Amino acid sequence: MASNNTFLVNAPSLDIMTEFKCSSKPHKRIIFIGPPGSGKGTQSLIIKEKYGLCHLATGDILRAVVAAKTPLGIKIKENMEKGKVGPDDLVVEIMNEAMKKPSCENGFILDGFPRTLAQAQKLDEILEKQRTKIDKVLDFAIDDSILEERITGRWIHASSGRTYHTKFAPPKVHGVDDVTGEPLIQRKDDTAEVLKLRLEVFHRQTEPVIEYYKKKGVVAKIPAENPPNEVTAEVLKVLLS
Ligand code: ADP
Repeated sequence: MASNNTFLVNAPSLDIMTEFKCSSKPHKRIIFIGPPGSGKGTQSLIIKEKYGLCHLATGDILRAVVAAKTPLGIKIKENMEKGKVGPDDLVVEIMNEAMKKPSCENGFILDGFPRTLAQAQKLDEILEKQRTKIDKVLDFAIDDSILEERITGRWIHASSGRTYHTKFAPPKVHGVDDVTGEPLIQRKDDTAEVLKLRLEVFHRQTEPVIEYYKKKGVVAKIPAENPPNEVTAEVLKVLLS
């Protein structure tokens, strides 16, 4: 049975890692796009370490705003529980603030953002003003039929964003984070029912974002159905190219 450690054991060779770190022109402003459960979070945690990037997971950032129970948080909560995306202007503003964090100085991985065409256009406007742009968009391609098992088996360590899976990546001790020993949680929207809505929204609103970036020639397709270590190898290959 696979465990999180297999990520490390089966990780790509040291040569690739070194090459990756020393690459003179690494892609630094990266977007991971894919349906819920496609492995964006899992890969982000690996790639951000190797690349010294920050990982901005929109879902986590918005959930923190919700937890603060401000009027803004309550509005976002209503949207999230229905499986919808947040209002575009609001989400872009929150992400723009997040990108100013010192940990994003070397670049960022946007995970779950932009989720709509309007968000992508607004993001480009912001980056243009800063005379930067998105370097690469990784399209985590996967069949819908695989996602239900991944989502309903997902357990999360909330403060670090580490994810586990009851079958594919179980923690050493059931329900407990390997590193801190703290309890793991399941997300409220990680049910088969809400997943259906989230997938509908993904196909309708987020797939056009992939097309938008394809026209800019920055999209690379990642076969996300493969085991985690193979997906990591593919992601590294694309980011080095
Ligand atoms: P996303 O961030 O795209 O929603 P996650 O990275 O959280 O997806 O992955 C969803 C679930 O599937 C998690 O429980 C994770 O442990 C598991 N998982 C991630 N990548 C793979 C993979 N390549 N094969 C099998 N299970 C995976």
